[in-house]
Amino acid sequence: MAEKTALIDCNLLVAKALARAGVDRMFGVVGIPVTSLANRAVALGIRFIAFHNEQSAGYAASAYGYLTGRPGVLLTVSGPGCVHGLAGLSNAAANAWPMVMISGSCDQKDVGRGDFQELDQIAAVKPFVKFSVKAKDITEIPNSVFTLLYHAGSGRPGGCYLDIPSDVLHQTVTESEANSLLNDAESNRKVEPIKSVKNDEIAKAISLIRKAERPLIVFGKGAAIARAEDEIKNLVEKTGIPFLPTPMGKGLLPDSHELAATAARSLAIGKCDVAVVVGARLNWLLHFGEPPKWSKDVKFILIDIDEGEIELRKPELGLVGDAKRILKVLNKEIKDDPFCLGRTHPWIEAITNKVKENVSRMEGQLGKDVVPFNFLTPMRIIRDAIVGLGSPAPILVSEGANTMDVGRSVLVQTEPRTRLDAGTWGTMGVGLGYCIAAAVASPERLVVAVEGDSGFGFSAMEVETLVRYQLPVVVIVFNNGGVYGGDRRNPEEITGPYKNDPAPTSFVPGAAYHLLIEAFGGKGYLVGTPDELKSALTESFSARKPAVINVTIDPFAGAESGRMQHKN
Ligand code: ADP
Repeated sequence: MAEKTALIDCNLLVAKALARAGVDRMFGVVGIPVTSLANRAVALGIRFIAFHNEQSAGYAASAYGYLTGRPGVLLTVSGPGCVHGLAGLSNAAANAWPMVMISGSCDQKDVGRGDFQELDQIAAVKPFVKFSVKAKDITEIPNSVFTLLYHAGSGRPGGCYLDIPSDVLHQTVTESEANSLLNDAESNRKVEPIKSVKNDEIAKAISLIRKAERPLIVFGKGAAIARAEDEIKNLVEKTGIPFLPTPMGKGLLPDSHELAATAARSLAIGKCDVAVVVGARLNWLLHFGEPPKWSKDVKFILIDIDEGEIELRKPELGLVGDAKRILKVLNKEIKDDPFCLGRTHPWIEAITNKVKENVSRMEGQLGKDVVPFNFLTPMRIIRDAIVGLGSPAPILVSEGANTMDVGRSVLVQTEPRTRLDAGTWGTMGVGLGYCIAAAVASPERLVVAVEGDSGFGFSAMEVETLVRYQLPVVVIVFNNGGVYGGDRRNPEEITGPYKNDPAPTSFVPGAAYHLLIEAFGGKGYLVGTPDELKSALTESFSARKPAVINVTIDPFAGAESGRMQHKN
């Protein structure tokens, strides 16, 4: 009887609701008023990864959502904690990744009176969320948790927000009341309706593909989140159509596949006449689907879960729904009416020849050992070390200007959802948060980050988090002494009273980033030659322990702004 009347507080009720809804990992920074919430969650079996800064924790939650297909959960304190967390929430929105941010907020009775960390957090999150709720009473918690998790993951995934004032966190209900609230929330949980695939649209898609002379299949992180790799493989191999992954679509089919057009990207998109685009927006990353990169007559078949995306791009044909489901139906219909371009088809020959030509040119450049290191030599050594690991392939995290650009072309992706980079928003500073999310989401895989020194610096303190949780993450820093590299100003630009200050692009030359991790008991390496790099990679990959490899790069190697030079 005593048990029935026992009281539980809101911190415990939030944790119970999260656990009941299937949340098993959380990322965040504790403090007033959410410390007890984190402890309660841990006590219920939810792994809480405690960060130094909500920005990195938010990036981790967003990437965890992408990698697992279930919303990543971020916990923050009120006011400034919530503002730091916006980085993660906005990143989830931009990349269409499922995530829920939960923040404590100030006492409801003190709103407008200058309370500790007071902020209208619902207004602050508004531009970045699909849905938000401020719980005004403990009884609203279970239903809010289930509803927010539903919205984050349904349709086009994105960020959602739960605001819990500190007075609500201190409210209590009896255990039996809590149970009935949880039961009600669970039994009323929404389930996403499955959209039926229209037969006439499938028939039109098949007819467009059949009539195409130079077809192309493009896929992106929407296909990855849909886990559509088997269906894409089936479609590609059944039709013999070459494919082009977006940067994070890489790995859904191996880069080494004979129909991979990645190394002939300009030809593939410039000359294709029908492009089947699966879970990828025709945004800047795909040159808006417009000339001069694409032919003006190209016909797009867009497959996307978001109807708004189809309305925005106005393709020849739009198929709205889950990529895996749609491709299954498409493949089934194609099976009854087989066609395959075949190796000798002129389009396949043209792509294959271009791929061979570009790959051999690139291999020629990669083959030389350049010391002091340019970007290519260490990237080749890293590629070979990663390939040598076989399966399960490591999850690769990449950010930076030249480091990410060069890495995208040189590093090889063989398995789905094994690449995380600056993404749709070109966000720098995601590296360590993504590494931690990847290690937590896929404990069987090694995580390898290849980052510029500038990207690394945004969240370098999180190397302590790597060590604290003993995550199998090797962070390789391409250290060229600054953003883009050293001081690249023309002499006539260096004037004025602060002309003796370091250039806005420069950092301390020769920064000892490898020592940062050693301060916490991790392993650091400083390397400047091929042999030193090879030995650091061999040792750290087999140790599967947190490590930082500080790679000295010639500060004048690479292009300013990487491949986006024209915009800077
Ligand atoms: P990329 O950066 O790889 O080009 P984008 O993030 O631009 O990819 O696009 C991903 C697209 O995938 C979004 O338009 C999103 O609505 C869509 N999407 C998300 N989930 C699914 C799914 N399950 N099935 C089909 N499309 C999806």
